[in-house]
Amino acid sequence: MSARSAVRRCGIALALLAVVGCVPAQAESGSSREGAAAVLMADLVPDLAIVGARVFDTDAGFVPDRIVLVRGERIAAVLTDPATVPEGATRVDGTGRYLIPGLWDAHVHYGFTPGLDHVTLGRLFLVNGITSVRDTGGHLIALADARAAAARPGAAAPRLFVAGPLLDDTNRVYAGAAPGFPDIAAGVDTPAAAAREVDALAARGVDLLKTYELVTPAVFRTLLARAAQHGLPVTAHVPLAMDGLEVAGSGIRGMEHLRNLELACAREHARLLEARLEALANPEGLPGHELRRRIHAEQRAAAFATEDPARCAEVIAALARHRVFQSPTLTITSGDAARLFADPAWRATFDYLPHAVGSAWHTTAAERLEAPPTPLAVAHTRWAMAMIPRLHAAGVPIMAGTDTPIGLLTPGFSLHEELRMLAEAGLPLRDVLLAATVRPAEFLGLEGQLGSIAPGQFADLVLLDADPLADIRNTRRVHAVVRGGVLFDRAALDGLRAELLRAGAAP
Ligand SMILES: [Zn+2]
Repeated sequence: MSARSAVRRCGIALALLAVVGCVPAQAESGSSREGAAAVLMADLVPDLAIVGARVFDTDAGFVPDRIVLVRGERIAAVLTDPATVPEGATRVDGTGRYLIPGLWDAHVHYGFTPGLDHVTLGRLFLVNGITSVRDTGGHLIALADARAAAARPGAAAPRLFVAGPLLDDTNRVYAGAAPGFPDIAAGVDTPAAAAREVDALAARGVDLLKTYELVTPAVFRTLLARAAQHGLPVTAHVPLAMDGLEVAGSGIRGMEHLRNLELACAREHARLLEARLEALANPEGLPGHELRRRIHAEQRAAAFATEDPARCAEVIAALARHRVFQSPTLTITSGDAARLFADPAWRATFDYLPHAVGSAWHTTAAERLEAPPTPLAVAHTRWAMAMIPRLHAAGVPIMAGTDTPIGLLTPGFSLHEELRMLAEAGLPLRDVLLAATVRPAEFLGLEGQLGSIAPGQFADLVLLDADPLADIRNTRRVHAVVRGGVLFDRAALDGLRAELLRAGAAP
């Protein structure tokens, strides 16, 4: 019997219990049927009833006057009739408010900044309505405590989906050898080493893999093939030794920062690739971060200035055809041109960071403001912003991610800036919300569990005081957060904010 036919046989009153299966085996046979149903009802008193809110429906947008029942860590039902709300649940008044799925930041690095501990990170995300994050690069040993904490019921932290280390060449970009390049990568220089590394990460329970810019094509293909054997999605910085069009059709599930797609969109993309292959032979023996910097410096400006619209349309069509998820991370990509850190209101978010980290960020912001944005940074930002409506029009799935805590992007707060920028770039507001909810769940193959408001989904929810489809900045007006069925009401969120500010204050 399908779940759907089971629901029909239960009738209206029990339809809400579809998620837990409303017709147990014993209830179907003879005299015990009524008794079993009664037991079932008693069992199924919801823990939370969010009443009267407009509820975000992935297909329809906001629908008015819904009641969302939460039992345990999942959504038990979405009802229309207040009279059917069972007694005994904690009622949350959603009147005049907007209920959206818990938000995701699809690109974060927990292990990037020493002194920025996972408890602080978790709270920063949660008070901003973020209930899931993808960690797109960090050694698992550094993430162990964060993963354990996030898995605890009632955690004041988002769900944490991890890639493990960036998978790069043995001459890796992030090797811990230069300031700004901490060791968050693993080096793999042969297909055999790549297969071993994927097996090891799969055994340690990673949720995805991330390949990086200096891997060879042979290693890249092995990484993808081996990941497929483990059922792991892979996201990439397009390797510098490959063309973006080829990578789009390689079996890759995602790409970060639109990285190196400008090279594939350039009129002379083939000549640029040839030049890159020569540079990657690395006759001077440059360290990985310097090798990458040099190649970007030689090729990017020319690529932005000589885009071939037909070639770019071909690349974008391939991304759509193969459904390659894009995390444009506009906040970090535009960092040096848009200069969020020039705004005192943004710098005020540094007060929520541990004091040593916050004051270091203030110093860095002041230093960066001494020089004007480079023409390359301006061109890069313009190009990335212009790509958003083109990707969307072609049907390429877009995810919201920020790269926090890199680039003076305060965890949690930065996601709302990313949403604003996606909207400013021309992504329709409903799609902006999808980019931060159901799309990242889809990337991980978890859309049946996370990312929308429906029976059976994990109860990860954000109650907003104003309509984010009227103004995307209303995603900041968080009234309450539910994470895995646990309610953080306004008072609880204010308490977490106060604790963050206390740790951020000068000793
Ligand atoms: Zn990153």
